[in-house]
Amino acid sequence: MKFINLTRHTEIGANSYYLEIAGHRLVLDSGMHPKNMGEDGLPNFKLIADRPLDAVLISHSHQDHIGTLPMLMRRQPKARVFMSEATAEIGSTLLHNSVNVMTRQREELGATLYPLFTHREADRAADLWQLCPMRQRITISGDRATGRDVDALSFEFFDAGHVLGSTGILLRAEERTIFYTGDVNFVDQTIAQAAIFPEGKIDILVMECTRGDHAQPAAWTRAGEESRLAEAIEEAFRQGGCVLIPVFALGKTQEVLAMLYKLHREKFLPDFPIYIGGLSLKMTEIYDRRANMSRRQLPRLQLLNKLRPFVLNAETIHDSAVRAGRVYALSSGMMMPKTLSNIFARRILGNSRHSIFFVGYADPESPAGVLRNARLGEEISLDPEEPPQRVQCRVSQFQFSAHASRESLIAYARKLSPKKIVLVHGDPPAVEWMRAKLIVDLPGAEVIVPAPGMEIEL
Ligand SMILES: [Zn+2]
Ligand SMILES: [Zn+2]
Repeated sequence: MKFINLTRHTEIGANSYYLEIAGHRLVLDSGMHPKNMGEDGLPNFKLIADRPLDAVLISHSHQDHIGTLPMLMRRQPKARVFMSEATAEIGSTLLHNSVNVMTRQREELGATLYPLFTHREADRAADLWQLCPMRQRITISGDRATGRDVDALSFEFFDAGHVLGSTGILLRAEERTIFYTGDVNFVDQTIAQAAIFPEGKIDILVMECTRGDHAQPAAWTRAGEESRLAEAIEEAFRQGGCVLIPVFALGKTQEVLAMLYKLHREKFLPDFPIYIGGLSLKMTEIYDRRANMSRRQLPRLQLLNKLRPFVLNAETIHDSAVRAGRVYALSSGMMMPKTLSNIFARRILGNSRHSIFFVGYADPESPAGVLRNARLGEEISLDPEEPPQRVQCRVSQFQFSAHASRESLIAYARKLSPKKIVLVHGDPPAVEWMRAKLIVDLPGAEVIVPAPGMEIEL
């Protein structure tokens, strides 16, 4: 079995992994880097240019897992593409949005290669996707696996508890099993229920490491964190300010909306206006539409109907008044330049009445990462094209990650006790901590950090 890490650096970037197994060639995920532009933002597909793929399997519809899929499909026209139904619905929306973003970047940043694919290509790609139910064994040619296919390569999707439609992928071939976690969460969120992952014999575990660089505080509970957030919002409103919560359009927006709904219903928070962005609105529509079809908490909650959020877009974000007593849950989660959360943050950063609350992962070098680590009064730049600003607003961090804690990842690896563990989707300190810990905890296992671009034999 051969494995190539197609990302360009050891990091959470443009996730994509090549596998050669039982005479088949496949790729797991086809992401786009959330921060890097141009070539550096893409997986290194050139490494597999002369290896025609049989299949591409997509774990979920975050940009860093699906963002370059139309480009991979252009290069690999014969590959079948598989994903869950919800991932397909969200993925198509996300890719069309990505064309719009790249078109704007072409104008604003002079990125002449952009957009990297067109609306037509995104449509044509989505038409070819094969949608798979969870927990069904499917052969690599797209049929339901039967008893006769025991030796053939098959895959099965498991609910990853990360965002709507997210999966871990179990591959079986020639009596060997390999399990790719994708992005996973082993505990319930406000909407998403904890992952249900295989617990039987797994030979090779390919595992994400997002939170490997920090321990879960012993006293942490989701309920405790929710009441801390509720108190912080009340305090911010008492100061006569508003609250900005930078969020990913997919997943975190809906989790935050559901949390605000719950806190209001349980009388921890009053009723107040909420603002979201246009892409978040589309993603929330999909959550609402699929509320009864998916495994989730609060299955009857229709977020848009109950919370009636106001919608801001690239035009209105600049001149809509900043109003006290309101929550602005805007994307992007990492506050990348020119996104709603970045533009809005620059409007409130210098005002001590306002607050910015972080509720999930942000790359330490992204504007969100820079602001999160800044001291009060420090001068920072959230957008290289704009003058630096002094941080005067309140900045707080809350722990509502959609990713598994490193403790729960280690516990899962210990439970499976696989022969080999391949660590992916983590910044170097995160991957390094996980590697060191697993070597001690699972002395019989080979722990591998796959160097980008190197072919390894598994
Ligand atoms: Zn994700
Ligand atoms: Zn990811």
